[in-house]
Amino acid sequence: MVEQDAPVALVTGAARGIGKGVAASLLRAGWSVAITDIDEAAGQAAAEELARHCGAAGRVEFICMDVADETSVMACLERIEEDFGRLDGLVNNAGIADPDNGPIEQLSLEAWNRLLGTNLTGAFLVSKHALGLLREASGAIVNIASTRALQSEANTEAYAASKGGLVALTHALAVSLGSAVRVNAVSPGWIDTRDTQQQRTDPLRAVDHQQHAVGRVGQPADIGALVVFLLGPGAAFITGQNLVADGGMTRQMIYVE
Ligand code: NDP
Repeated sequence: MVEQDAPVALVTGAARGIGKGVAASLLRAGWSVAITDIDEAAGQAAAEELARHCGAAGRVEFICMDVADETSVMACLERIEEDFGRLDGLVNNAGIADPDNGPIEQLSLEAWNRLLGTNLTGAFLVSKHALGLLREASGAIVNIASTRALQSEANTEAYAASKGGLVALTHALAVSLGSAVRVNAVSPGWIDTRDTQQQRTDPLRAVDHQQHAVGRVGQPADIGALVVFLLGPGAAFITGQNLVADGGMTRQMIYVE
C-alpha cells in the first residue's frame, strides 16, 4: 500500500465530458484522482492530458471499470487501495447520458435495465465497495444526477427514473452513513461537453444560452467547482442534499405567447 498526502478521489465515467472536467477541477484543487471509465483508450488518453493539471501534491491514474459489473467494480477498488492507499472522495458520474428512450410502448425491458443498471445500480455498486476506504478517511460521495430528476421532456422515462432514483439513493445513504461519510447529489442542467465528444454536434445558438438566467449554457468546470466544494471541509455541514447547477434554467417561468 502506498501512503500519500494529497486526498484521493475516484471519478467514474471520466474519460470525457463532465467526469473529465470534474477530475481536472479536483486535480487543480490539490487532489489526486483515479479516473475510471468503460472506454480504456479514451480513459488512458484523458489521464495523460489531465496529468498536466496536477498540482504539486496530486497525481492522476486511469483504471478501466464498468460500473454496472460488480466484479469490475471490486477489482477497481482493490487497485485504488494498492496504488493510492486511501480514498477520500467518490464521484458517481458514469452514465448513459442520452435521455431519449422513444415512446414507452417501444422501450424494451433490456434497454430500460441497461440504463438503470449503469446510471443507478452503478452508483450503488461503486458506493458499496468504496465504503470501507471512505469510512477510514471520513470521506464524502457526490452523485451526479440531473435536473431531469425534477422535470421532464417526453419519452425520457428510463433516464428520468434513473436520476430520480439517484437523488433518493443520495438521501437514504446520507442518513445511513451519518457522520461517517457525507453523501450529496449534484444535478446539472445543460452542460456543454461537445469538445470532449467523439461525434461533434451543431454549434450552440444564441437562444440556447439566452434560456438560462445566467445567460449561458454550463461547462464541466461549473460542475467541477461544486464537486470540489462538496467533497471538501467547507461542506462539512451538508449531507443528503441535491444541489441544482443549471444556470437558473429550471427557475425560469415560461408563458407561451
Ligand atoms: P458522456 O457520455 O460525455 O460521459 C459519460 C462517460 O461515462 C463516458 O465516457 C461513457 O463511456 C462512460 N460510461 C458509460 N457507461 C459506463 C459504464 N457502465 N461504466 C463506466 N463508464 C461508463 O456524458 P456527460 O459528461 O454528458 O454526463 C456525465 C454525467 O452527467 C452522466 O451521469 C449524465 O447523466 C450527467 N448529466 C449530464 C448533463 C449534460 O448536459 N451533459 C446534464 C445532467 C446530467 P462511453 O462513451 O464509452 O459510453
